[in-house]
Amino acid sequence: MMDRLRNDLTALMGIPGLSGHEDRVRRAIADMLTAEGVENHSDRMGNLIASFEGDPDSPSVMLFTHMDQLGFIVRKIEDDGLIRVERMGGVPERALASQAVTICVPGGEDVEGVLYNKSHHATQANEKYRVLKAPDVRIDTGHGSKAAVKAAGVCIGSPVVYRPNVVQLANNRVAGTSVDDRAGCAVLLEVARNLKSRDGGPTVHLVFSVQEEFNLRGAVVTAQTLKPDVAIQIDLMLATDTPEMTDRGEMVLGGGPGMSLYSFHGRGTLNGVIPHPSAVRLFEETAEAEQISLQRSAQVGVLTDLSYVQLVGEGAVSIDVGFPMRYSHSSLEVCDLSDLDGLARLLVAALARIGPDFDLTRDGEPG
Ligand SMILES: [Zn+2]
Repeated sequence: MMDRLRNDLTALMGIPGLSGHEDRVRRAIADMLTAEGVENHSDRMGNLIASFEGDPDSPSVMLFTHMDQLGFIVRKIEDDGLIRVERMGGVPERALASQAVTICVPGGEDVEGVLYNKSHHATQANEKYRVLKAPDVRIDTGHGSKAAVKAAGVCIGSPVVYRPNVVQLANNRVAGTSVDDRAGCAVLLEVARNLKSRDGGPTVHLVFSVQEEFNLRGAVVTAQTLKPDVAIQIDLMLATDTPEMTDRGEMVLGGGPGMSLYSFHGRGTLNGVIPHPSAVRLFEETAEAEQISLQRSAQVGVLTDLSYVQLVGEGAVSIDVGFPMRYSHSSLEVCDLSDLDGLARLLVAALARIGPDFDLTRDGEPG
């Protein structure tokens, strides 16, 4: 399974898919599902759905992960051909100087560029530690004039992403563009392969969602249609095992999959998730039975689509589970394939344990 995860993740990280422009990623995943004999369809927003009908007396499950990634949108093309952009999603401006980017040209040839960085030899002392805001950054594509840039197919509104890049590190670790959340997509593909040939179990809807990085707009639409009893989101868990992160928690890269006991954004949306105790219990018991080490996360500053999905209909029994990841939203994020492997096995086993007696209430809680 590890080789398959590595191949799927590498392939998916090579495909640009800015929020609202996920079409290439969706087509690739749809093709992979179809090749496995798994039926799938997409909705108006672009979410991709593969449903596995199961026991009608058991709660239905929506297991979802996002296909999109953050980046930029072209705002203006200067007369000299340099391109100005707006941020799309939580782009860390500290990590931008002299990065390579890809400007997507639908139906045409993508345009490569580099993010402007003032020549070091001309940098004054007071500029040395200054970070430019994204709207002040310029992209150099080499074209040299506005007319040439436009002739190459770039226009206002064109999507821009970090240039797709994958670096295979030691110990099954992988650095790549948008590990968040193509790693989740690779894990969901593994789950799909398993569900295809399972014996019994609940109805499961696998959803590859859009526009998560654009303030969580995609998955909630699909949830309104599916009205799941149980909602499980797959996304990164902040690894806290690098020197600047140790105070924040105990999430170790390579230490196994994780579940979130608390997430709160704390700015902007003021949204977050406190998981349902039945869902927490499900993953704790599954991990113990399968002898998979399960890590725990409680973080302010993070949030996922689940913030909105949990509120659909009568409310869904909700939980975030995921894989530890380092350097979130930088052009190279790092995950460990053994965590993805553990996560896929955990999900498959947990889904199989959801039967007619799965408690959707909180009546049995000690409080
Ligand atoms: Zn994500």
